[in-house]
Formats: sequence, C-alpha cells, structure tokens
Amino acid sequence: MIPTIRTSELKRALNCGASIVLRPKVRSRQGDDGHEGAMLHYLIARRAIDELGAEGPEELAAPDVPAGYRLPAFSMWIVGWAIRHIRETVPDDWTLMVEVGLAYRYERWIQSGHIDLLAISPDGKSVIIIDWKTGRKIVDPASENEQGNGYLALVKRAWAEIQNAMVQIVQFYADEEAGFDRVSTVVVGPEIVNGVVSALDNRMGAQLDRQDELHTGPWCDYCIGPSCPALRAEMEELESMKMTLTPEALAATGPEPDDLTLSKFVEIGRRLATPIDDAIAMAKDRIKRNGSLPCADGGSYVLRPHGGQYSLKDGVQPYTYYRRAKDLLESEERFSTTVKISMSRLIDEIAEERGINKGGAAPVTAKGVVDATLKPLLDQAVNEWLVKI
Ligand code: SF4
Repeated sequence: MIPTIRTSELKRALNCGASIVLRPKVRSRQGDDGHEGAMLHYLIARRAIDELGAEGPEELAAPDVPAGYRLPAFSMWIVGWAIRHIRETVPDDWTLMVEVGLAYRYERWIQSGHIDLLAISPDGKSVIIIDWKTGRKIVDPASENEQGNGYLALVKRAWAEIQNAMVQIVQFYADEEAGFDRVSTVVVGPEIVNGVVSALDNRMGAQLDRQDELHTGPWCDYCIGPSCPALRAEMEELESMKMTLTPEALAATGPEPDDLTLSKFVEIGRRLATPIDDAIAMAKDRIKRNGSLPCADGGSYVLRPHGGQYSLKDGVQPYTYYRRAKDLLESEERFSTTVKISMSRLIDEIAEERGINKGGAAPVTAKGVVDATLKPLLDQAVNEWLVKI
C-alpha cells in the first residue's frame, strides 16, 4: 500500500524518510491548539460562508469537542480578525472557498490536505491560499513553509490553469511580543507554480527511497516524540552521567564554552524542545490515569496542583477589571506597571470599531491612526531571532 501523507506533515516527511513508516505506528497527540484551534477554524469558516458568501463543505459540522466546552472568551477576537483579514485580502469578485479538502495520488504516494481558505480569480489564473495557525508555537513563515507549498501543489493539480499564487500563513498569536509577523506572505508566478507538483513529487521520491534513514531536526516537532528511536538514542546520550574530571578536561574548561559547543547546545535544545514538551504532557496524562509514573532510579513522578495564571471569568470585560484595580491604587505610576501594551491588539480593535483597514495603502488605516497618535509615546524593543543560515 502506498503511503498517504498529509500536507501538514510534509516538512518532516521531506526531511526524514523513516518518519513515513514510523508515524502511522504511533498514536497521534493533539496539537498545541487542541479544541480551541478546531473551534476557531470552524467559527471562521462558518462566518466566511454566512457573511462573505464563501463556498464550504455541504454540511460544515461543528468540531467534536467535549460536552460543555466553550471557546475561551479571550480567543473570540480571532474570529472577527480573520473575517476582516479575508475582506481586506481577497478581492470582492474572486471565488472564495473554505475548508477545501483535496487529495492527489502520485505514483508512489498520496498527498491529502485541507485548505483553510482558497480564493480563485475570475479568470482562473490566480489563487490566494491562507492557512490559519491557532497554536501558540510559532511556525515557519510562508516563504519557508512546506505546508503552504504543499497546498499550492494540490491546488495546481486541481486547477491546472493556475499561474500565480499568493500563499499566506496567519499565526494569530504572533505579535510584536512574539517577535514574528502575524501574517507572512509569499507570492509566486508561473515559473514556480508550473513546476510545484513535480518538484514536490521528486523530493518525496528521494525520501521514499530512504525509509530506513532517521534524521532528527526541527521537523521532529509533532512527529512521534519519545517513541522515536533516534530521539531516544539522543536522550540516552544526554542522560545524567558520572565521569572522572581528568587533567585534560580541567585544562579545557575556560570561563566560557567555545563557539561550537554553544551552537551544539542550541541545536540539541531546539530539536528536543517539542518532543520533551510532548513527553511531559503525556506523562501528566498517564499520572492522571495511573496515579504516578515510575522512574528508572526507583522514584516516581506525581502531580502536585498549585495556583496558575489568572484569566477573566466569562462575560467580565477587561475594562471592568482595570477600573476596579485602579480604584485600589492611588498612584498612576504604580497602576501603569500592571497594564500590558499590545499595539497589535489595539490596531485590530480600532480597525474593527471604525470599519477601516488595519494597514496597507488605504488613506486611513488603524495602523496609521496608532502611528500618529501613540507612536510618539512609545519605544519599540528589537527582538533578536536566532536563525540558522
Ligand atoms: S521524530 Fe524526527 S527522527 Fe524520529 S521519525 Fe520523526 S522526524 Fe524522524
């Protein structure tokens, strides 16, 4: 049987041939957006159909979430933001589709995918593809995103006349604090679009030839985590160890680690971060079921509850909270330290309230209003991304 690879899994399948055979053997874990992500995708699609006339699946069903589940109040802005973004991004006369399920059988594999939003120009030659990311973990921008490229391949297969494409990855929780753009965009013309299907097939063919090769890397996120033989081997090497401090080791220890040691720590840390997060989440689930989790040294892990972050109760406006909090403090200066500044959110809300675009070339935009009114009061920090070249 030839493998079916979801477009969301392309990054790891195109980098680790063994994952193609290992992934189906291991139970999937929920992504970091879980029920909230499923509900947000549904609500955006529902409103796009109802308010923007988008075409959608015949019966767009609400996601299967536990009885009584309610979308957190602080996430509701995302739905309105997405609808406004569609209005600003997709020309009125284009055909708009949401939740577009596509699949294509290549000679050696099947690609399946579910596109959140697809728009096609009236002449059928241009498309806009948007992928909504509702998780808090930052993903690759559109220019490097295998998922966006994979969706383009599926669209090109289904609509052969397509020549131009704009692919957007929209990460709702990315803002100036995250240091990443909420919307990243890549625009490609016929030279890429016409070759996208064969290029993807060739790259996948190379990995299908290497299904016995494990290759760890950033693509290990959301793969099989602690079940992976290569990651397990890596962890075993990292296990706490006792060793003799030799004169050579002592002499080689300076005030700072050398460059290569430092970069190796960064690489291992990045590679193992998500599998370790997965293992911790899995361990908590198991302890809830079994009471404890045994360790090799005879100890065991248990869960100990303690107070976490506060959030506003359903129906309570942040403004009510801030007004009452202010009443408790004489000093404006002291009160100011409790207020969080989010320019992205302010721009979103101004755009929504005044019915203007968030940014872009329009004469009046929410960003323009904020820049003119508030920017003189603010300094913006510079985020430094650690990027491997
Ligand atoms: S976790 Fe990484 S190395 Fe292991 S199978 Fe998945 S992609 Fe390959």
